[in-house]
Amino acid sequence: MGELASGAALTVPVYRIKGNGTGPNVYIQANMHGAEVQGNAVIFQLLELLRDTQLKGDITLVPYANPVGCNHKNGEYTLGRFDPITGVNWNRMYHFDDSYIEQFAQQNHATDVEKIKHQFQQRMLQAIEQKLEHNQFGLTTGQRIAYQLQYMAHQADIVLDLHTGPISSKHLYCPEYAVESAKYFDIPHTILIPNSFAGAMDEATFCPWWTLTDAFAAQGRAVNFEKESFTVELGSQELIDLEVAKEDAKSILSYLRYKSVLTDEQYQPSNMTRYACWLKDYKAFYSPMGGMVDYLAEFGQPLPPGEPLARILRMDNYGDGDPLHYLTLDKTVIPILHFASASVNQGTELYKVFTEYFELQ
Ligand SMILES: [Zn+2]
Repeated sequence: MGELASGAALTVPVYRIKGNGTGPNVYIQANMHGAEVQGNAVIFQLLELLRDTQLKGDITLVPYANPVGCNHKNGEYTLGRFDPITGVNWNRMYHFDDSYIEQFAQQNHATDVEKIKHQFQQRMLQAIEQKLEHNQFGLTTGQRIAYQLQYMAHQADIVLDLHTGPISSKHLYCPEYAVESAKYFDIPHTILIPNSFAGAMDEATFCPWWTLTDAFAAQGRAVNFEKESFTVELGSQELIDLEVAKEDAKSILSYLRYKSVLTDEQYQPSNMTRYACWLKDYKAFYSPMGGMVDYLAEFGQPLPPGEPLARILRMDNYGDGDPLHYLTLDKTVIPILHFASASVNQGTELYKVFTEYFELQ
C-alpha cells in the first residue's frame, strides 16, 4: 500500500474465499476511515459464518483497508477521517474517468453483454494500473491506497464498503437503480444516491457501469450489467460489538444470497419497516450556536415538528438570560446520526436527518 518515512512497508490483509465460479464475485472492505472499526468485526464474523458454506462466487475481504487511518491516534481518540498531510477525506480519493464511456458504447453497440462486461472491466483495471505504475509525477499517499483497493474492487461484481457514522444508527447508501436490493439488508434506513461521482469507493465502482448503461440506453439498447456497490454504515465509530457484528454479517449474507453468491436459505432479510430518502433530502443540521450539547432526539424514530433535536447548555447565560436553548425543526424528520462530541462550535454538523422520507415497500 505504501512506505513510511522509516522505510516500513504499509500492508493490508486480504482474505479470499473461492466460489465454484457460477455466481457473482464480491469485494468487501472495512475501516477506510480510521475510527470506523466495526466493519473489521463484521468481516471476522463473515469469515466464521462462511467456513461451512459453499459459495457460487468468490468473496474478497479486506479489513483495516487504510493502514494509515486506523493507526492515526491522538490521545484516547482515533482520528483517521482525513489524510493528516493533505487534509483530504480518505474516502474521496478514488478514480473515475467518464470521458471514454460514450465512445466505448458506440464501438460496442452490437457486442454481447458478457464481452462488454469483460472489456469494460479491463479498461477500468488498465486505467488504475496506469495510475499506479506509469505515472512519473507520482501519487499522494491516499491515492496510492485508494487505487490499490479500487484495483481489487473493480474485479468484483458487488462491492460493499463498510463504514460507520460518528454516533449513529445503521444506514445504507444505495445507488437509485439498486433500490430492490436495499430490502435484503437488515438496515432500516436507506439513502438513495444518484449517478454522480464525489470520490467515494461505492461511486467509483458503480458510476462507470451506470454511465455505460445510460450510454447504451441512449442508443436504444437496454442492458443490465448486474453490478452493485453500497456504503454500509454499521452504527457508531470507536466501537466493536461482536454480537451486533454477527447480525450485520447475516444481513450481508441475506443480500448476497439474494444476489446468488450463495444458496444457503437460512440467510433471509428480517421483517422491518425500511425507510428511504433521496440524497438531496438527507440533510445536515448545523448548530446555530456554540455550547454544550444534550442530544435528545432518538435515532430512527420520526421526530414531529417543534420537538427538540437537542438542547444547548450555555453557562455564560446563567443568571443573565436563558442557559438552555432548544433546537427544533418545522417539519417531521428521522434523525440518523449526530456529532460525536458534547461540545460544539457554531456551525458544527450536529445531526443528519431524513426529510421527505418514504417507506420502502
Ligand atoms: Zn466512513
